[in-house]
Amino acid sequence: MNDIFDGITSVLNGENIRAIKTPCYVIDEKKLSHNAEVLASVISRTGCKILLAQKAFSNYDFYPLLSGSISGTEASGLYEARLGKEEMPSGEVHVFCAAYRDDEFDELLKYADHIVFNSINQLKKFGVTAKLNGKSVGLRINPECSTQEGHEIYDPCAKGSRLGVTRAVWDNDMTPELLELLDGLHFHTLCEQNSDALEITLKAVEEKFGDVLPRMKWLNMGGGHHITKADYDVVKLEKAITYAQAAWGVQVYLEPGEAVALNAGYFLTHVLDVVENNGVKIAILDASAACHMPDVIEMPYTPPLMDADSDCKKPYVYRLAGPTCLSGDVIGEYGFDHELKEGDILVFGDMAIYTTCKNNTFNGMPLPDIYGLKADGVFEKLTDFGYKDFKYRLGKS
Ligand SMILES: *Cc1c(COP(=O)(O)O)cnc(C)c1O
Repeated sequence: MNDIFDGITSVLNGENIRAIKTPCYVIDEKKLSHNAEVLASVISRTGCKILLAQKAFSNYDFYPLLSGSISGTEASGLYEARLGKEEMPSGEVHVFCAAYRDDEFDELLKYADHIVFNSINQLKKFGVTAKLNGKSVGLRINPECSTQEGHEIYDPCAKGSRLGVTRAVWDNDMTPELLELLDGLHFHTLCEQNSDALEITLKAVEEKFGDVLPRMKWLNMGGGHHITKADYDVVKLEKAITYAQAAWGVQVYLEPGEAVALNAGYFLTHVLDVVENNGVKIAILDASAACHMPDVIEMPYTPPLMDADSDCKKPYVYRLAGPTCLSGDVIGEYGFDHELKEGDILVFGDMAIYTTCKNNTFNGMPLPDIYGLKADGVFEKLTDFGYKDFKYRLGKS
């Protein structure tokens, strides 16, 4: 477990550590480069294209480091599409949104190369305009194949999902004219999953949409592929890609977010106080789960913590919690080798994803600054957040 923390050791041992204001995120370029190399090897062995899903990680200072390895960016709407175009201009820009807006579509055409629609109605509404502007046009399909349990909010194939066109709807509403507009199909059904889940999903896609796939130029297999995780079966992934490309003559795209920046960030925090309630010892941190790592509560999950264990086998057990007024602002319970005291520094791991792009200032909590840890060991502050960032999003300035 602790090897995910090897990058931060030099920072913790550095003389500037006392001067660093916490909480703060640290993005580790070495780990990002490692992930990028893994993805580049999949690209070179299969001929697929891999995009960064920016909703998971959009710290654009690091896009130049990624752009040589991956094929571009994926956006959830106008702003991410613009960011991808501005900050990774060498790559393709793909966008998927559950519903596009009339007042944004023209601007979106300036940034996006591929536009994926979520419904046949949206395809009908915007498809011709997209086509006339030289865009590659796609439709998100829903293969109705759930391969995950326990995380319904992350399962686009859950019953009643709004995401993607089912075959029944396709059969009712698709017309030859609309089909003519389509360059590709898109499915996104996975979340932190291995390639066995992709294999099952691809079979479902073939059963439901195999008849129309040969008409397509590309097939986008979405994100949720945990490609850079140690136990990920890359060979099975590559078989699935190669199969699709051979069977249907499509260019395969993947758009992982998490896999691009997996384990590539740390979150540093200090203990502000230690309190006790009925035998439970609670360390109050200057970091909040609700504000700074919302997926800890939303997913939920317990993030890795340096020199501590989340199964509480170590002798000193503490609940770690935030400084906000939310009772449930709890990160988790961990075991330590020693007592915690005010001023101790703690380091959470795997904190580059779904954090800096998802945090908030609830309770007037400050936005944690973001630092970069370069491959040569240089440690650089990238942001300077303060009161202004809290205030300016709330009213007249
Ligand atoms: C969330 C999402 C992704 C990225 O998912 P990860 O789990 O971060 O890999 C890619 N494509 C779409 C359409 C998504 O909604």
